[in-house]
Amino acid sequence: DTSMDSTLSRLASIGQIAAGIAHEVRNPLTTVKGFLQLMEEESPHMYLEIASSELDRAISTLQNLLQVSKPDLQDEPYVPINLCIELESLLYLFQDQIYRVRIERNFRNTDEIVYGKKNQLKKAFFNLLKNAFEAIPDKGTITIEHYRMGNCVYIRIRDTGVGIPAEKLELLGTPFFTTKDEGTGMGLTQVFSTIYQHGAKIDVDSTVRAGTTFTIQFPTDVTHQMGVIDLDLQYENGQS
Ligand code: ADP
Ligand code: MG
Repeated sequence: DTSMDSTLSRLASIGQIAAGIAHEVRNPLTTVKGFLQLMEEESPHMYLEIASSELDRAISTLQNLLQVSKPDLQDEPYVPINLCIELESLLYLFQDQIYRVRIERNFRNTDEIVYGKKNQLKKAFFNLLKNAFEAIPDKGTITIEHYRMGNCVYIRIRDTGVGIPAEKLELLGTPFFTTKDEGTGMGLTQVFSTIYQHGAKIDVDSTVRAGTTFTIQFPTDVTHQMGVIDLDLQYENGQS
């Protein structure tokens, strides 16, 4: 397994993210500028369309970035969560894929509760599942495991997809890193930032043309404490 700690500390660097934004936003804006210059001379219709779609791309890049950074600012409370139930409801969103992707569940401790930011965690698991489905070009299997070992709850999502070459592993989670035509490269950035905020760990293990496994480890001792503190505060504030 490859530890994600170095990626997580990179993510903490605002400078890196700013550089990513600058890069991503500059390119479409430069394209727009060029087409606007051409429009002065030639038939404007097609150029307008391209300019408009490039502007959309810049806007959606910024929106994605804002969505990922928002949970940091937003104070979503820690609540008790049964991850098995959440995973099950997320899988329902991929129903249209089950004709080609078989889902195997290995939920060993279905009563386990972790404390966390529910919306953020759901979004993170959605992003991981989405990547798993997208990694399988034709037919394949996604295996989801859920179990407790010691003080930790583990969630493992394994796909029989295209895999990730070793030299790309360290780029995972970097804002805007994508190998997909329509990708945003923000999915794993959201995942890693959420995992980091929960004091959890994520590991990836991948073999090209065989598949990828993401393992998330929740330290329930720590998250339980964080959860209790959060729930107490809520109670004192009379919010719950
Ligand atoms: P996006 O899905 O928009 O490309 P992500 O941050 O979710 O952005 O993922 C970044 C990249 O990591 C993907 O483009 C892909 O190359 C790689 N990746 C992530 N998950 C998987 C997976 N399960 N199998 C293969 N490659 C993956
Ligand atoms: Mg993705």
